[in-house]
Amino acid sequence: MLRPFVVLLAALALPAVAPAQGDSTAAPDPIAQLVARLDLERYKATIKGLTTFGDRRQGTDRNRAAVDWIEAQLKSYGCGNVSRLKYDYQPPSPPSPEGRGGQGVRTDGRGGQGVRTPRDTTRAAGGGRYRGVRAQTGVNTDSTKQPDARLRALDAPASTAGAREEVYCTKIGTTHPGEMYIVGGHMDGIGWGEAANDDGSGTALVMELARVFSSADVRTDRSIRFILWNNEETGLNGSRAYVEQRRALQGTKDEPKWLGMIQHDMMLFDHGMPRADGTLAAEQRPEADVNIEFQASAKFAAEAEQLAWTFERANEKYATDYPASVGSHMTNTDSAPFQDYVPAISLRENERGTQIGAGWDPNWHQPTDLYATYGDKDFRLGLNAAQTTLGAIAGLVGATIQ
Ligand SMILES: [Zn+2]
Repeated sequence: MLRPFVVLLAALALPAVAPAQGDSTAAPDPIAQLVARLDLERYKATIKGLTTFGDRRQGTDRNRAAVDWIEAQLKSYGCGNVSRLKYDYQPPSPPSPEGRGGQGVRTDGRGGQGVRTPRDTTRAAGGGRYRGVRAQTGVNTDSTKQPDARLRALDAPASTAGAREEVYCTKIGTTHPGEMYIVGGHMDGIGWGEAANDDGSGTALVMELARVFSSADVRTDRSIRFILWNNEETGLNGSRAYVEQRRALQGTKDEPKWLGMIQHDMMLFDHGMPRADGTLAAEQRPEADVNIEFQASAKFAAEAEQLAWTFERANEKYATDYPASVGSHMTNTDSAPFQDYVPAISLRENERGTQIGAGWDPNWHQPTDLYATYGDKDFRLGLNAAQTTLGAIAGLVGATIQ
């Protein structure tokens, strides 16, 4: 019985494996090789580096020092044409509560009572529906909620109005240099913590991708711009300034044509829905996922949806641990100013509207958004998002290793 069975298996398997075995010149997938250049410890170290500048609130010396540090890193990676976008930021008067997340005021930094949502009555930001248990969210503005005196002092100097800068660099394509994808995250934060997750995690992801693509042996057909937005937490002012200043320049020597915009904002924490008492699981849930969102109401919704599924397929192929989910309610992030001009998506730990907006991340804009708050299972979700974007973008720009 054994022998015929083996023969049958071999016969079935042959057609599938024959091409690879028969072609001795078949090269290993260059994208898989590039993805393998990402590393959990390097990703963590880059986040840690960003947290040395505290919350990096826009309009402060610690924010400007962080921009300088990011710029030095990008240069050290060999990323091309490191530049800065300059703009002016004047806060609205009278000042509104900083941050756009203020759906409610949370005073204890840890959630409080869960709230069961009345069915069919509540729409989340971006157009989704709240379901199940919700916990309160808000922006901490109370310095005394930060128990670490060193960090409280670091985060203390207030923002002043005026000149702002944000840094970017570009991997220049070989055959189509005048066409580019934009890969972004925001480097400013709020809440009297270290902005480790929001958005050190997305900033570090973009920086790590800049490092991999800038390696001397990597060639791409099209260009990739890596940009670290400032002033996200005041209302996307840094990305809006970019769109205003550069949209009309597309196709000139000063600005490649935009092919897509991919934003990364809060990549680490997917511990699930709050429990009825408002508390959350202490550890990353094993079924955590990377949430890829487009905005169904955008002018480029159909193209953005296609782009989102391209990223989902890259996740299937290249991400080592966590899957991806696609949703249609991208909102409150730096891809929004682009969404009516170019396919725009965001990658996150959770859906922004229905999940983060429902209190799934208790550290969001809180003093607890510290490097030390997160464990390797959390950091690994961010690494999987990096693998997803690197794999997708490498395919889109035609990356090869020389
Ligand atoms: Zn953010």
